[in-house]
Order: sequence, then C-alpha cells, then structure tokens
Amino acid sequence: MFASIAAAALAAATPATIAEHEAACAGKDGWSDPAPPIRIFANVYDVGTCGIVSLLITGPRGHILLDGATEEAAPGIAANIQRLGFQLSDVKIIGASHEHYDHVGGLAELQRLTGATVMSMPSAYLALETGKVDDDDPQLGLHKPYQPAKVGIMLADGFVVRQGPLAITAHATPGHAPAARAGLGAPAKAAAASLSSTPTA
Ligand SMILES: [Zn+2]
Repeated sequence: MFASIAAAALAAATPATIAEHEAACAGKDGWSDPAPPIRIFANVYDVGTCGIVSLLITGPRGHILLDGATEEAAPGIAANIQRLGFQLSDVKIIGASHEHYDHVGGLAELQRLTGATVMSMPSAYLALETGKVDDDDPQLGLHKPYQPAKVGIMLADGFVVRQGPLAITAHATPGHAPAARAGLGAPAKAAAASLSSTPTA
C-alpha cells in the first residue's frame, strides 16, 4: 500500500501556477471562494480557497492536511487534493491552526471523505467535537457553529506527530483563539518542510 502512495506522490499532477491562482481569485478573497491548488515548496501544497490556506503535506506513507476552511469549501479542497494526483484515502491526519469556523468548518466533511484522524490541542477539543467555540474565545459570537469532527490525537506544546517520514511539531500560540497553534515540520531528506502560521481570522 505504501508503495502505491509513493507512486501516486511521484505522479502528482501539475498544480496551478501562482499566476493561474491569482487569476482565479481576482477580486475574490472569500473563505469559501474556490481556488486551484498550488505548490508552495517541496511536498507542501495549498489546496485551500481564495481566502483560507489549507496545507497538504505529502509523504510516502500518507499525507497530513492542516486546516479545512469552511463547510462550503470542503468539497473543493477534496477536489484539489485529487487534482494533484493524490488519493483522499491517503490523507491520514488532519489538523487545524485554530478552532474558528473559517479554518475548521470543513474538517468533519474532510474527515468523512478521507477517513483521516483529526488532531487537536486540548483547548480546542470541545470546540471541534461540538462545533462551537469556547465561551472564553475572543471571537465568540462572530463565527457560526460547524459540523463536529471526531478527535483522535490530542496534542500538547512540543508534541511531535509523525506519519512515515513526516514530522510535525505542535507549538501552542494561544491568543487569537484558545488553541491557536503553529506547526514546524521537519520531514526527512528532500521532503523537508517548514511551516508556521499566525492566524488573523
Ligand atoms: Zn480565527
């Protein structure tokens, strides 16, 4: 099975160019406005929308998806993964920068489509499993509820999540949301990826 995942990764279809992405999103920056997938570097792709980044980190033993935009955006994110030549069932782990609707509204549907395990900081656990942000969230009342996802991996500051040679370290950066998290990845060899995110919405 792993060999087939590696073969699929090598055979990844051509992502859109930055110019094509900009043309598709000209005048649009909505959370759910569909955008074509682009390659950021190495094995890291943005499969999100015009307004929300969704990072796909691919590996020979399965992929990791970070952020799922909105419920309305989930089918387009899935289609972008497939457009790149990857199988949805090879997405093994889904995480999120933080628990607001514009970043996790699509997680439940993407979990259903991929069968992936969702990972969460403890302070986002109830939000992800109920679809409602905590009462102490600075943006309480600004975001609508979302379909609950099923959390299977509980993160902690410094916790390293591994999927084959991929390794993602969780760094707690609470403030924008109770569970805001930046990730730093250090996959093996040429599949190196370095990630960070500072959410603004
Ligand atoms: Zn936010």
